[in-house]
Order: sequence, then structure tokens, then C-alpha cells
Amino acid sequence: MQAKAYAAQAADTPLAPWNFERRDVGPQDVLIEIAYCGVCHTDVHQARNEWFPGIFPMVPGHEIVGKIVQVGVDAKKHKPGDLAGVGVMVDSCRTCEDCRNGQEQFCSVSPVVTYNTRDKNGQPVYGGYSNYIVVHEDFALRVSEKLDLAGVAPLLCAGITTYSPLRRRNVGKGHKLAVVGLGGLGHMAVKFGAAFGADVTVLSTSPNKAEAARRLGANRLVVTKDEEQMKAAQRSFDFIIDTVAADHDINPYLATLRTNGVYVNVGMPVQPFQVPSFTLAMGNKVVAGSGAGGLPETQEMLDFCAEKNIVADVELVNMKDINAAFERMLRGDVLYRFVIDMKTL
Ligand code: NAP
Ligand code: ZN
Ligand code: ZN
Repeated sequence: MQAKAYAAQAADTPLAPWNFERRDVGPQDVLIEIAYCGVCHTDVHQARNEWFPGIFPMVPGHEIVGKIVQVGVDAKKHKPGDLAGVGVMVDSCRTCEDCRNGQEQFCSVSPVVTYNTRDKNGQPVYGGYSNYIVVHEDFALRVSEKLDLAGVAPLLCAGITTYSPLRRRNVGKGHKLAVVGLGGLGHMAVKFGAAFGADVTVLSTSPNKAEAARRLGANRLVVTKDEEQMKAAQRSFDFIIDTVAADHDINPYLATLRTNGVYVNVGMPVQPFQVPSFTLAMGNKVVAGSGAGGLPETQEMLDFCAEKNIVADVELVNMKDINAAFERMLRGDVLYRFVIDMKTL
């Protein structure tokens, strides 16, 4: 079918309107009319070739929510009219070890992320800055009618990416959690950390976010550029989640871990981190990473959010203002996630 979108034609040109063919709805596919799509920092990294040479034209967007408008003849999980969400992946083999363990995002055979890659037939796949998307029914998650739909969109990436590592380590009551960077991912990490019962501190470059951090559920904000404040925070956290998109030195953060503390990186800066062996040895420190989340855990997270009434704090943007939204995100000028209102496409 014909679909409308905003696409980057090249890594150095702004996003602009583009029409293209979506694949037909196969027997096990669903067609989703997209209502909202969140703007993840990953969209900027990829549209500008910051990680690797991309596939152009590129339609970014992997925080997708909307309504199912058609289901394939063999699709059983959804019916027309249902709300659904699509996150960072749209297909996988379903049989490899990771797929069987519900970690489809690490599929070793045929992983298909939502955009900037090719599907099993070698065709490029296009993301959520578009009016429609066709996905296999397994990759359409159930979304509650109870929540504000625009605020649900960022849960599909920012939400699951922060929920998953906190759950995996059972972060909760009695733990001191630090969230580095109060952006799209960071503000969700604060909400989840608070919902799980942890004592949450935000480590931020932005002193003006202190009040907002408290409103989101943090108990305090430490300004990372302030040496005195960072010194006072040394050896104080059990767990750190680092959500920073820009290149940065993680050693000052590692110094704020208690003995046996765990640092988990979820940001995707380009430059590798450098950590002296002594820093790791002294205090039994764990440096870990985490990538999005699988289908079962993403559904669990969406259900948890429906139960606890958790959504992202969003600023709705008009599709035509997407390039300005990218620039504002790079300046840290967003509280805390831009979400495109697809009615404006
Ligand atoms: P974002 O909204 O731009 O937030 C990043 C935050 O980092 C900013 O709000 C800012 O917070 C802080 N920051 C910016 N520049 C900094 C600097 N030079 N030094 C220290 N802190 C800085 O981005 P996002 O959408 O949350 O994404 C964050 C990163 O996660 C991106 O790299 C994205 O690609 C990655 N990501 C990874 C996964 C995964 O599966 N692991 C999934 C989604 C996204 P303050 O103002 O509070 O300092
Ligand atoms: Zn993302
Ligand atoms: Zn697999």
C-alpha cells in the first residue's frame, strides 16, 4: 500500500516528505494506523550516520502507537480497532536461543530492527515517522486504552530500555539508584526507579532540571559539573544507569558507586569508554550494558505502566517541525520526549 512519511534522503540532508510502498498485509501481519511516534535520540544517530552508513531514504521512528486497522487471514492476536505498539524490532527468527528466551532483540539468525535495515527478503524496512506500518502480529504489543496514548509511545523504546536493566537486577526498596542524564530514557528510568521503591538521584549536566527531577520521583539532583557535589556523592550508589547520548568519561560516575556497585550503560555514544583496571578492581565494580528488551518483557512493562498509570512526559510536535525537534533534542531542550502527532503528517 502507499504510505506517507518523513524521510532523510541522505545523512546530511534534513528530513522531508516522502511517499513509498509498504509491503502488503501478509497472512500473519497486522496493519497499524500510526497515531503517535516518539523521537528517540537513536533516530538522530542513525539519520546522520553517526554509528554506521545507513540505508537511505531512511524513515526513522521506533516508538510507535496506533490502531490496528487490518489483520491478516491467519493473524490471531489482534483485531481491528485494538490499540497496539511497535518498538525497536519488527521481526526475528523465533527459534534461536535468544528468541526462545524472549530476547528477540538479540536474535542471532534473522533480527530485523524497525528501520535502517533489511527484512528477511532483503527489502529495506521503514520506521514510524509515517501514517501506516505493517508488522508481524507477534511484534505488535497490546496497549491499554486507559493511558494517554501519546505518552505511551516512548514506552516502546525509552520505557523498555530503562525498565529492563532495573528489573533484571531487582532494583528497588533499600537501593540507591543514580540516573545519569535526564532526557527521554533518563526520565523514564527515574519514574521506574521510584515506582520500584528505590531512592533515586539524578546525575545531570543541567542544574535547571532539579525541580523537575523531584517531580518525576527523584529525591535529589547532583550537578555533575560541580566538583563539590560529585565529591559528596562518592561511594553512595548501589546502581547507576547511564543514558547519555554524547561522548563522555564514565570514570567520575564509577567513583560514585559503593563497593559491589553496578554501572549499566544504555546510552550509545560513538567513542569507546576507557576504564582503568584499578577502578574496576577496587570496589568489585560491575560495568554492564543493556539493549532494549524482548517481546514478553516489553508487554510486561506496558501492563505495569497501565496498572501504575505511568507514561512519558511528552511535548507533541508537528511532523513538519521534526528537524527543529532534532536540533532541540541535541541542545537538551525537551521535557522529556518529543512525540510526533501523526495527524499532522
Ligand atoms: P536524550 O533525550 O537526548 O537524553 C540524553 C541526555 O544526556 C540529555 O538529556 C542530557 O541530560 C544528557 N547529556 C547530553 N549531553 C551530555 C554530555 N555531553 N555529557 C553528559 N550528559 C549529557 O536521548 P535519549 O533518547 O534518552 O537517548 C539516550 C541514548 O540512549 C542515545 O545514545 C540513544 O541512542 C541510546 N539508546 C539506547 C538504547 C539501548 O537499547 N541501549 C535504546 C534507546 C536509546 P542532562 O541535561 O540531565 O545532563
Ligand atoms: Zn530508541
Ligand atoms: Zn532468533
